[in-house]
Amino acid sequence: MSLAELQALERDYLMGTYARAPVEFVRGQGTRLWDADGNEYLDFLAGVAVVQIGHCHPALVEAVTDQCARLMHVSNLFYTEPAVRLAQRLSERSLGGKVFFTNSGAEAIECAIKLARKRRRGGEVVVLDGAFHGRTMGALSATPQEAKQEPFAPLVPGFRAVPADPLAVEAAVDERTAAVLIEPIQGESGVRAVPDEVLRSARAVCDETGAMLVFDEIQCGMGRTGALWAWEHTGVRPDAMTLAKGLGGGVPIGACVTGPDSADVLASGDHGSTFAGSPLVTAAANAVFDVVDDGDFLADVSRKGDRLRIALTGLGLAVRGAGLMLAFTARDAPALVRRALLDERLVLNATGPDTVRLEPPLTVSEDEIAEAVARIGRAAGAGST
Ligand SMILES: *Cc1c(COP(=O)(O)O)cnc(C)c1O
Repeated sequence: MSLAELQALERDYLMGTYARAPVEFVRGQGTRLWDADGNEYLDFLAGVAVVQIGHCHPALVEAVTDQCARLMHVSNLFYTEPAVRLAQRLSERSLGGKVFFTNSGAEAIECAIKLARKRRRGGEVVVLDGAFHGRTMGALSATPQEAKQEPFAPLVPGFRAVPADPLAVEAAVDERTAAVLIEPIQGESGVRAVPDEVLRSARAVCDETGAMLVFDEIQCGMGRTGALWAWEHTGVRPDAMTLAKGLGGGVPIGACVTGPDSADVLASGDHGSTFAGSPLVTAAANAVFDVVDDGDFLADVSRKGDRLRIALTGLGLAVRGAGLMLAFTARDAPALVRRALLDERLVLNATGPDTVRLEPPLTVSEDEIAEAVARIGRAAGAGST
């Protein structure tokens, strides 16, 4: 089927919720993608920070195919070892409490909201301006962006957005607050780190009032910033966190992970999901975990992130972010991203009119970083002439 035929069918049969680039990808390997005409691309988006250990990593392919051939799904009415093992290692490597598995990031947020609400009945959830927590009604209600929320009113009540300012956060939280929900690095709104003093102030006021501090690590977690969890850089430990995106390296899995204090808030019958935590997706996440949480892998992510940041800065670009979760400012970001894709065969993403986001697989090589930067230089240069 030609690209034109695909586009015609998409127009007729898929809801028009996505603005797709005019490329059909058919194969991937590591940081590389191939389109239907056999052209090779460098992938510096990784399916929006999902393909954490590269396309078709042999260990992930093996884990998924082995598990597929054995058992894909039985429901949460029974025990399976991959799910329990993954929960144990997530807990032991983070907050020490318990895990609820989901199929997506938004669902992980829903779990965190339900947990916080049950723990403090009727309590408000405080979020930061510019946050993105997902598209389901609860997660959308926690996403204070007019364009995304406005068509879908009425939203879930009990959410309040405040500026990313220590005093504003402090003033918004009291004994009736259920949770403060924060992305340590805001992803969809342009890769903006929330200042440490805001996180510290949120931690302090949550300790004072008994509200839960929840970090949304859906994008910045799972090694993306060069630490397993972005909060490890900040010195602020949350009471719970949400994961998804890179957790499964390409299979749909999310999780809400708690510390010990909120581990037993949700009890039998309180929450559930038919698909979530299947042996298939948890076997995949275990394979990703084996790669990411091993030896010098994360130190390497930091080093490669520095390399990428310095090279981009060398092009005169204003770069922000951490590890391999980076962005730079560009006058017409969507046009630059389009030139990079179609002229340079480099996959990037614009989070808005003036921000280009880079989130390559964590397994990206130094040579691929150098090559991507050269391509960005040409794509940016072509726009300024
Ligand atoms: C992507 C994202 C979500 C939503 O995840 P979905 O899997 O698309 O539902 C929530 N929070 C953050 C920080 C994200 O980056």
